Amino acid sequence: MPHEAKLKHLKQKKPTDSNCDTSTQLGSIHSLESMSTCDGPGMRQVIFFQGCPLRCACCHNPDSWKLSAGKPMDVEAIINWVKRYRVYVPAGGSEASGVTVSGGEPLLQACFLLELLYRLKLMNIHTALDTSGWPHTQKNDCLLMAILAQTDLVMLDIKAVKNADYQAFTGFPAEGRDYVLRLAIKTATPVWLRHVIIPGMNVDDDNLRELAIWIKNHYRQGLKIERITLLPFHQLGRHKYEELGIAYKLFETPSLTQAEAAETRIRFTEFLRAAAPDLTCLID
Ligand code: SF4
Repeated sequence: MPHEAKLKHLKQKKPTDSNCDTSTQLGSIHSLESMSTCDGPGMRQVIFFQGCPLRCACCHNPDSWKLSAGKPMDVEAIINWVKRYRVYVPAGGSEASGVTVSGGEPLLQACFLLELLYRLKLMNIHTALDTSGWPHTQKNDCLLMAILAQTDLVMLDIKAVKNADYQAFTGFPAEGRDYVLRLAIKTATPVWLRHVIIPGMNVDDDNLRELAIWIKNHYRQGLKIERITLLPFHQLGRHKYEELGIAYKLFETPSLTQAEAAETRIRFTEFLRAAAPDLTCLID
């Protein structure tokens, strides 16, 4: 059966917080950004999915948590938006421009995401998936494999190395992230690893060394690491917590200064070079 015909078999159902549904033709979308230079390689169009089950202590987008609070959009409307802005993006290699799906957590609306990625690849557009990995486990192996088959780059948030720390930081175990990592290895999908560095929490030598060894272990297992980005914690999302009346765990934590972030990157790079001298990816 042709792909277009198959898609018609998917149910048309608006996603809600109670169903966290994966079989829908309507996505719940937080926002669209036409020209971003910080969401993947080159100039990107970014589709921010609404809805995220995690509650990361450092999240600066709590307004993206509630799945039903987004704008319902079908794939066709998003593809039309992508086409409209393609005229402004630079021509060049496949990575000179592209589309990034981000969130929220795009994997929360997995069937919709798959259909969208499939349509983008039909247009020969470079696709990047910015994800925490939740909620994927072996139960939905095929679905995630299909998504990765339409994904040129995975941008994966590490959050925390040890499972107990991950759970404390996000409210969930690290199993979804680890499963995405395993499938990225299996499918040889290139990965950019991203990690928020937070004063007083994970910028000391012990944490950075542990992070370097964790990355080395995944590299040794065959993970195609192209880039590691240490993202300095900031307080730009604090007002959103106040507006939404949500308690903010890191209310008192200061933003990491540029100088502190640069110094942290230098120490981390030394630990990584010691752990895996042959890993030559970009670190920023
Ligand atoms: S995964 Fe992203 S959107 Fe979800 S809570 Fe964490 S930082 Fe926020």
